[in-house]
Amino acid sequence: MAEKIKLYDASKCTACRGCQLACKQWNGLKAGQTVPTGTYQNPPSLQPNTYMIIHYQDYVDPNGDVKWLFRKEACMHCTNAACVTVCPSGALYYNKDFKTVGMDREKCIGCKECVAACPFEIPRYDSKTEKVYKCDMCESRITNGLDPACVKACPTGALKWGDKEAIMSAAAKRKQDLGVVASTYGDKFVGGTHFMYILKEQPDVYDGIKKNPKVPLSVTLWKSWLKPLSLLAAGGVIGGSFLHYVLHGPKRPDPEEVIQDEKTQGGK
Ligand code: SF4
Ligand code: SF4
Ligand code: SF4
Repeated sequence: MAEKIKLYDASKCTACRGCQLACKQWNGLKAGQTVPTGTYQNPPSLQPNTYMIIHYQDYVDPNGDVKWLFRKEACMHCTNAACVTVCPSGALYYNKDFKTVGMDREKCIGCKECVAACPFEIPRYDSKTEKVYKCDMCESRITNGLDPACVKACPTGALKWGDKEAIMSAAAKRKQDLGVVASTYGDKFVGGTHFMYILKEQPDVYDGIKKNPKVPLSVTLWKSWLKPLSLLAAGGVIGGSFLHYVLHGPKRPDPEEVIQDEKTQGGK
């Protein structure tokens, strides 16, 4: 079967969030309580029960024109996926037909090595289930010849799923039609991704987008000598936190977890 990719064309997106809802519904993900942050973006970032979000951003371009920019954030399904490289249990793997990155949650041991290694900061750890969560490109659908749920739900044609070559050439043409400030994103990093964007502006104007994501050298080293150590320590002596320290230094608290803790402790 041919390698496939998903394309998000921001120039056709109305930020209706039909895709976000469809993702929740297909994957049986519960809604969570959130707090207003002065934007339609909700929740503010990916969560264990939210595999994708639509970002909303006000932007004033160099001509002084105010623009509303949208962006869909989810797993990029990297060709050289750092998460697959570091996962010691085989929970993360490449789909053999489409080359997307699937997840067998039964096998996840909650070591958080993928969380530390992902250059796009995608996987989310749930301390209640002690497992990690991310988009698997709706593997149960695509392996049965269906489009991913988010693609199926999109009413404007902003999302497409198809053979890599056809999608890449359609994306290049669309970018050309949109003009000089438009850009593609995803095709140039980590050996290429199986989720790519057409953006209305250059990537650097988008808040939170990774400007130059790379598989860290430490992940490559991990594959050759640290990973076997992690397997030995799968009981929890070293593992996710150890790799996080090696890759990124001390872990900062997740702002959302802090909000939740404050709410719980403060009884708000
Ligand atoms: S974006 Fe992160 S979680 Fe997704 S395949 Fe790439 S490394 Fe893995
Ligand atoms: S491909 Fe499936 S799991 Fe991934 S964002 Fe779309 S609906 Fe969610
Ligand atoms: S369903 Fe389509 S138009 Fe609506 S937010 Fe998602 S990508 Fe944009």
